[in-house]
Amino acid sequence: WIHILVDRLGDMRADDEVLADDGHALTGRMLAAAVEEAAGHLAGLGVRGGDRVLVVNENCVALAVAIFALSRLGAWVVPLNARLTGEELSAISAHATPRLALYMTGVSPAAREHAERAGAEPVDLGPIGEVMAGPVADSVPEPVETDGRDQVAALIYTSGTTGTPKGVMLTHANLLFVARMSGHLRRLSPKDRVYGVLPVSHVFGLASMFLGSLCYGTRLRLVARFDAKAAARALEEDRVSVFQGVPAMYARLLELATVRGAPLAAPDLRYISAGGAPLDMTLKRRVEEMWGLALHNGYGLTETAPTVSTTDIDRPAADDTVGPPMPGLGIRIEDPATGREAGPGAIGELCVKGPLVMKGYYRDPDGTARVLEPDGWFHTGDLARRDAEGNLYIVGRLKELIIRSGFNVYPVEVEAALNTHPDVALCAVVGRPVDGNEEVVACVQPVAGSALDEAALRAHVEARLAPYKRPSRYLIMAELPATPTGKLLKATLARMVRDEMR
Ligand code: ATP
Repeated sequence: WIHILVDRLGDMRADDEVLADDGHALTGRMLAAAVEEAAGHLAGLGVRGGDRVLVVNENCVALAVAIFALSRLGAWVVPLNARLTGEELSAISAHATPRLALYMTGVSPAAREHAERAGAEPVDLGPIGEVMAGPVADSVPEPVETDGRDQVAALIYTSGTTGTPKGVMLTHANLLFVARMSGHLRRLSPKDRVYGVLPVSHVFGLASMFLGSLCYGTRLRLVARFDAKAAARALEEDRVSVFQGVPAMYARLLELATVRGAPLAAPDLRYISAGGAPLDMTLKRRVEEMWGLALHNGYGLTETAPTVSTTDIDRPAADDTVGPPMPGLGIRIEDPATGREAGPGAIGELCVKGPLVMKGYYRDPDGTARVLEPDGWFHTGDLARRDAEGNLYIVGRLKELIIRSGFNVYPVEVEAALNTHPDVALCAVVGRPVDGNEEVVACVQPVAGSALDEAALRAHVEARLAPYKRPSRYLIMAELPATPTGKLLKATLARMVRDEMR
């Protein structure tokens, strides 16, 4: 059970600060007591084992306490980013049928708006910040497993960049495996100060950053929203030693350094990593130059809690590998046409087996059967290859692969070529079906104030890509649609491209 981490901190880090946000700082003992107290209040509100409980939040101490208190009661936490829209929350709530919704309103005006719309009332969960809850619904609890390995700890709805959100059931064992292993691979220790800005509502923030840090007794500061200036201040003044981000955050830190005309000071920084989306090589090089540190790249997905692989701390990569698989995992690269293992170095669908694979999609046995084989192999839907040293390379998504006149075009490769143009802020390449074929369309967000046009982009890719890979159309947009974690919504873009370009 994940709350064993808190029990342990209560003993081993009793008088040391382990968790903080803007208004709170808790020692190990205070955290353990807060969790105990909150669990009592939640039980009083009618939460039982097997109940789903929505927690609408932005990162804060109250969220952390609620997660462990729900674990203590055997309930499933359904963490939801407060930046989702009212309709998105309603759709998830209708699917999860929660007993209760909690709103972490202390740090989040967005959570307060959702709470007010739902008719929630302030509740007392202890001295951890303002929380609203309600109303209590008449929902049926799921059976509670006696063994924590099989009990669902978190029900996480995927970001839906490729379609409608799915509810991923992650067990206590899934989350603890990733927390323990990924923290170990970062060499975390009580000496570390971790800047906790990845959303804990997303599994990358929850398992790797949040539980991983608590597993090793670091000092973790939870941050509600990424702001480049605030992050720069923390790196310098709070002497942050570990920073995990998504590529978009590093892009914003570099922009800030450019505006200031000087690298951002980070005297104690020792480990930085990006994950959750493809890491652009130009971005990687510029970050590494600024801090003289390797920018590690991690790959994963919600269904694998999430970390499948990450580059080795002792052998930093110079290219775009996502590193070797985490110890203890089975990896298979499967030829999508035959279902058999692809030859050495060949591209195929990445399949994973091991203690981090989800229990299944909630209330969707057919969807689960499509991706999870009875013997435990999980199909990631990502296309990958493996080099002779065992490093994995993600080359795209099976469903995003563009097949143009029989040739495979990997959007990531085209995007990488476009990203080397200095006036491109963001880009996404999608396929558009035309007369039984597919054409390559590039959606580009220019750097603010630049005069980027189609002719410049065409000239740029001509020197870099084979003719069949070059976009036949360009869509220049002021802002590309993205999720709250900064991930581009490719399915939305593909739909826009299909509808708008006739
Ligand atoms: P949905 O499943 O609803 O489409 P989603 O796939 O965006 O949403 P996540 O589980 O958050 O949901 O994202 C996982 C995906 O992100 C992976 O399958 C992969 O395509 C991509 N990804 C994650 N990390 C990396 C990385 N380091 N490099 C390249 N791609 C990555």
